[in-house]
Amino acid sequence: MSLTLDQLNAADQPRFVALLDGVYEHSPWIAETAWGLRPFTTIAHLKFALAQVVRQAGAPRQKALICAHPELAGKAAVAGQLTAESTNEQNRAGLTHCTPEEFARLQQLNADYKARFGWPFILAVRGPRGLGLTRQQIIDTFARRLDNPADFELAECLRHIHRIAEIRLHDKFGTEPVLGNLVWDWAEALATHSEPAYAEQGQLTVTYMTPAHQACAAQLQAWMRECGFDEVSLDAVGNVVGIYHGSDPSAPRLLTGSHYDTVRNGGKYDGRLGIFVPMACVRELHAQGRRLQHGIELIGFAEEEGQRFKATFLGSGALVGGFDPSWLDQTDADGINLRQAMQSAGLSASLDDIDQLQRDPARYLGFVEVHIEQGPWLDEIDQPLGVVTAINGSARFAGEVVGQASHAGTTPMGRRKDAAAAVAELLLYVEQRAAQDAALPQGPSVGTVGVLQVPAGSVNVVPGRCQFTLDLRAPDNAQRDAMVADVQKQLADICQRRGLRFQLERTMQASAAPSDPGWQARWEAAVAKVGLPVFRLPSGAGHDAMKLHERMPQAMLFVRGGNAGISHNPLETITNDDAQLCVDAFMHLLEQL
Ligand SMILES: [Zn+2]
Repeated sequence: MSLTLDQLNAADQPRFVALLDGVYEHSPWIAETAWGLRPFTTIAHLKFALAQVVRQAGAPRQKALICAHPELAGKAAVAGQLTAESTNEQNRAGLTHCTPEEFARLQQLNADYKARFGWPFILAVRGPRGLGLTRQQIIDTFARRLDNPADFELAECLRHIHRIAEIRLHDKFGTEPVLGNLVWDWAEALATHSEPAYAEQGQLTVTYMTPAHQACAAQLQAWMRECGFDEVSLDAVGNVVGIYHGSDPSAPRLLTGSHYDTVRNGGKYDGRLGIFVPMACVRELHAQGRRLQHGIELIGFAEEEGQRFKATFLGSGALVGGFDPSWLDQTDADGINLRQAMQSAGLSASLDDIDQLQRDPARYLGFVEVHIEQGPWLDEIDQPLGVVTAINGSARFAGEVVGQASHAGTTPMGRRKDAAAAVAELLLYVEQRAAQDAALPQGPSVGTVGVLQVPAGSVNVVPGRCQFTLDLRAPDNAQRDAMVADVQKQLADICQRRGLRFQLERTMQASAAPSDPGWQARWEAAVAKVGLPVFRLPSGAGHDAMKLHERMPQAMLFVRGGNAGISHNPLETITNDDAQLCVDAFMHLLEQL
């Protein structure tokens, strides 16, 4: 017999603790305290409450919890002294079938880890999909985490303990995140399409209109048809468009989606999750033979990352009249221009066709987007979902400071025109100026000099030229513009003082996009419905929603990324359970239409 939430809510304390026995290794105090937090509306609510009990217990009890766990393939495992749960998990991960080399490596890692941190290494070996990590994945993760700072690693161990508990709860409740698994598996399958030079190294890279990109578009269309979308097509810029009609053909549609291109050596969920989650919802509606009053239009945007061509947000921009005709003549690193790239993929590259993609806001309720957070906040507080309050506005610049190249040995310090030193000075100013906004009510600013190079620089030459970029972001336009003005003035002052010339070209500017209050409230209601407290945060990254914002109300939902929210990196990860919560929340949003 599987456990039910009703049983748990009705249980007295000893029974409650007994029912949750084994969820947290040798640590009944967690259930004892959580008992006082009943009733739980959902299993997500229960899991969040258990995590909060651990969070509030303080470092000594947290360390004791970690130390209650066995080492991986350690002495206890070899001697058969593990709990039934741990034995099952270590067996499934194949840790009982290590080669002698693997076994020796794990013992060494166990010893190094214990010496460094003083507690055993904790890893949810059943992994983000619940099916088990490979031994190689386990060893790689182990080695990587040895380099973490101790306080971060302690928190990471606790996060893995919560993930282990989550999987053990599935076993107790007899539940399975079926749609979360589907979403997770779609992400895995789509990631098999990668550009050859990267695929060879096991990396994911899908840039605009490459064969891998076209394969993704074809795959998405096939899946959308299987899910039951009524109309599926590829538009003039390569966006994949799926429409699931509502019962009232005259009713405005809900527009949703995200991008399927990736950065080079990127993650599997950035963008794509926002396509898969609504796909899973439509699949459910179709399977139940249900129609909402309003139609759902899902778009897999072809280009958001600006990798192959400098045409960031090409896909979503085309829907709001933001396609710049001069982009067509822009060339990639191989000298192929955008027009040729589109035409060789079978698109017309006709500006008239692209112009037709503009959406009439009167025909839409608004735009919503689900996206992986790409930052550390949700992971840090054990919160699977977050509601976005605004997408930060940004401004990007390419600059060059020109001084005079001269002999590094003979030019006295007071007579130099060192272009690189000027940019270094600017870089430190940018860091300090952005940090100054840390406590502002709308949220902090960030500023980055991502490129800093001395063309034809040499060890014995004072840099005569230095090229650099600036990326400045803030949660509202006024805050961003104030920072931009200060940085520009600082650059002028530095160059004047040092007797240098400079150029600064604005290469991109995007307005901040505050979430529409009505749509944000619907997301908040949806998050509450899955049983989680509502956590609100601004988005530091740009998203397709900021383009649609120019035409219609929008709001976004974030899902936590594992590994402290790392993104634009192959370590980007989400769990099947979090994917399921996204699908559930999206369904609740649809119910509110
Ligand atoms: Zn993205």
